[in-house]
Amino acid sequence: MVQRKRKTTFPCGHRGQGRECQRCLQEAREAQAQAEAAANRLQEKDEWEACFEMDIVDLRGLPKHILKKARQVIQSLDNGQDYRFFKGKQMRVNSQLVRIPFSNDYRLIVKYSGREFSMLEVLSHEDYNKKYGKNQRRVG
Ligand SMILES: [Zn+2]
Repeated sequence: MVQRKRKTTFPCGHRGQGRECQRCLQEAREAQAQAEAAANRLQEKDEWEACFEMDIVDLRGLPKHILKKARQVIQSLDNGQDYRFFKGKQMRVNSQLVRIPFSNDYRLIVKYSGREFSMLEVLSHEDYNKKYGKNQRRVG
């Protein structure tokens, strides 16, 4: 005859074997793991946000692969690289403005005043056309 282990009712209300409720222990472990994961995500988010604070132009909302490219190009320009190196072109609407393509979909707009330059914005192809496209009046 098989000897059955006695089940006890724990203070939490669960029934089981042993001295502690395995179900509650398991739940506590899972809750702990979830809290740690949430804390990690929060930290990553803070670091992610901090990167944007460092950017010369606002790059929030860009797809990740464009973001990476944008940061590389901006860094290079900042280090003195010529915009033509990145296929940058003077814009017809204003010769001080240069557009640098990141891909078919995004453009960086840089403003040159003599040797000084400032990064203006990163625009999607669509927004670029709306703002600087054909049939637009001169800007800047
Ligand atoms: Zn329990």
